[in-house]
Parts: sequence; structure tokens; C-alpha cells
Amino acid sequence: MAVLDIVKFPDPRLREPTFEVAEITDDIRQLVRDMIDTMYSLNAAGVAAIQVGRLERIFVLDGKCIPGGDDNTPPLVFINPELVETGKGLAVVEEGCLSFPGVFVEVKRPRWAKVRAKNVDGQTVEVDGDALMGRALQHEFDHLSGRLMIDLVGALKKEMIKRKMNRWHAEHDGAAPPPARSAPEIA
Ligand code: ZN
Repeated sequence: MAVLDIVKFPDPRLREPTFEVAEITDDIRQLVRDMIDTMYSLNAAGVAAIQVGRLERIFVLDGKCIPGGDDNTPPLVFINPELVETGKGLAVVEEGCLSFPGVFVEVKRPRWAKVRAKNVDGQTVEVDGDALMGRALQHEFDHLSGRLMIDLVGALKKEMIKRKMNRWHAEHDGAAPPPARSAPEIA
């Protein structure tokens, strides 16, 4: 089991261009396993490769994002994902992100989303949902374009988030990551 370091805002690595996975090699399978370990250990709903310092277009989601999912539901793996469609109107929901520890902000997004991707076996999978799944799909997909939740809020909230992150770095850099909250968070 390997828990990877999370790249935290405003680290410019969160804005780097990502690239498609050409072949699902042992290295990619290992990366996916490590991302899943990291997600569970930080009690996050998901994590994107760019958040662990890798630029492959990959993200993973906790199986609890599936309606009715529980601790025994396997995680979902999305390699080279495409955002196929969003809809069912807009909803404002509080989001968190592993790259913004301790920051929770209301973000407006389409309620529903559908993503097509490859799983670790190279099979094409389509996943769609609203509620937590719809949120998590869009939040993680955004990471692969360097788009962060701070980009989706107004100027005042942007300043608040920047101040909180400055304070977080002042207090935590070089120290252990903060304890996870008990409820799963979008990450
Ligand atoms: Zn995030």
C-alpha cells in the first residue's frame, strides 16, 4: 500500500497540461492502485492523477459515490475519460478537495453528468449519475484540465480560499497531512 503526497493549491503542477494514457502498463496499474490507497487513506470521494504529481489522464472514485454504494463497493477507475454530457439543471453544493485541505465552498454545476473512460482492463465504461456521483465526476474531470473549484466561485470566495491556503501552508508545510473528516468528501 502506498499513500502518495497530495499536490496542494497554489502549486502550479495543478495547472499543467495532462496527457492521454497510450497503454495500460504495469506502471499505470501501480499508479491506479496507489491513487486508490491514497483516496481511501484520506477518506476522499475521489482523486485525480494530477493531484499526486502525475500528468496521465486518470481519476478514481470511491464506490460510495454510486447510489447505494458502501464500503464493499469497489472503486471506479477512469482512464482517458471524456465528459459525454451534463444536464438536469444546475445545483449549488458544497465541495471539498484534497488539494484544498479544510476548504469547503459552494460550487454551482450541472446536477447530472455522464463520463466515458477505460477501466484498468482497457474496457470502455460509461458512468453517469447525479447527487454525489454527478459532482464527483465533474470535479475530478475538471482536474484533468487544470480546472479547480476556486475557478468556479466569485471573487470574494476566491480571496477567502487563497487566504485559507496561505494559512494552511504556513501551519502545515513539512508536517503530516491533516486528519481526514469522517464523511467522504469530493476530492
Ligand atoms: Zn479536487
